[in-house]
Amino acid sequence: MASHMQNDSSAGFLHEFKSFATDAIHVGSEPEQWNSMAVVPPISLSTTFKQHSPGKHAGFEYSRSGNPTRNCLERAVAALDGAKYCLAVASGLAASLTITHLFKAGDGILSMNDVYGGTNRYFRKIAAEVGLDVSFADLTNLEVLKAALKPNTKMVWIETPTNPTMKVVDIRACADIVHEHNKDTIVVVDNTFMSAYFQRPLALGADICMYSATKYMNGHSDVVMGLISLNREDLNERLTFLQNALGAVPSPFDCYMCNRGLKTLHLRMKQHFKNALAAAQFLEADPRVDKVIFPGLPSHPQHELTKKQCTGCPGMITFYIKGKLEHATAFLSNLKLFALAESLGGYESLAEHPAIMTHASVCENERKELGISDTLIRLSVGLEDEEDIIADIEQALSAAHPKK
Ligand SMILES: *Cc1c(COP(=O)(O)O)cnc(C)c1O
Repeated sequence: MASHMQNDSSAGFLHEFKSFATDAIHVGSEPEQWNSMAVVPPISLSTTFKQHSPGKHAGFEYSRSGNPTRNCLERAVAALDGAKYCLAVASGLAASLTITHLFKAGDGILSMNDVYGGTNRYFRKIAAEVGLDVSFADLTNLEVLKAALKPNTKMVWIETPTNPTMKVVDIRACADIVHEHNKDTIVVVDNTFMSAYFQRPLALGADICMYSATKYMNGHSDVVMGLISLNREDLNERLTFLQNALGAVPSPFDCYMCNRGLKTLHLRMKQHFKNALAAAQFLEADPRVDKVIFPGLPSHPQHELTKKQCTGCPGMITFYIKGKLEHATAFLSNLKLFALAESLGGYESLAEHPAIMTHASVCENERKELGISDTLIRLSVGLEDEEDIIADIEQALSAAHPKK
């Protein structure tokens, strides 16, 4: 792919957030906070902290309620989200559960219809079972959103772009409509796919930004974690209580690892975008491919909205291979550089078959409605050399569709 195209990958997008890299590297890691003046935050494993006299302590009592290594990470993420507060929890789903515990039986939750499978399962099989009034709607359509808001709607859950069909939701327009309906209704954005580097939901009017940090934020496929960022003091007070009272906290070692991953978030995301754009352009030009869905391509139906609300696009590409299930299977079985595996957002390239793998729990009718067919393939384009990534895609396409 022409190199000028690579350099242009972020042209037309929202401008990069000011001092992002500097904040990623320095906020929360100030050496002055330690007697040792350690430049890299230590992993603080102690579960308990000595007090001067009963109730008088140096800011820490017990490691579930507060931990020095977790503090470093939380302060870094808050800075990257343009937020006042951040809470680290044990997984992305622990973030969803902690946030949902803000509500009680009878309260309404309106969720984007196309959300991460585990979020869908949590809302339907757990939240709804304990009496929350859960409903789903296509929030890319603002009229549908307006009609779906009810007097009891306490939370609207947005995921953008969605997985695996990459629908983009207009965060600002949704937040305005929801807050006009009821200023106390909380708008949550699952920002896992974009990461803090490409999208700032709080600046677009959302009340809470959450992540599965397991994906891009940590970025090295070696930590399971969740993050919650916000500006509202009242909500932070309640969520801090819930973080401790529910107890789904991450280990100090994982906090250290995730904070380490954040130091290169800006470099990784830029390269994910360049590599993914090159791969998406290659796929789009290939006659063995029916359709490519990548928000960074002008062919994406919400490309203009993506440019308006994001500073770029992550390495996630969805495409439909020509033919049937056997062609998708042949493509996936013949990849050499890409690992056939679930998850996403690490430095290594991954490929998967949503209908059989990540979205098997979504019923067949719903899959059909969402466009998750047998020929749909999802790529998480990693940080390897662009020409090697494209060569691997090319040889796997040739294996699926041999020249006659
Ligand atoms: C993986 C994922 C989650 C769940 O996060 P875990 O860390 O696996 O619990 C939530 N949302 C999205 C978009 C995800 O990709």
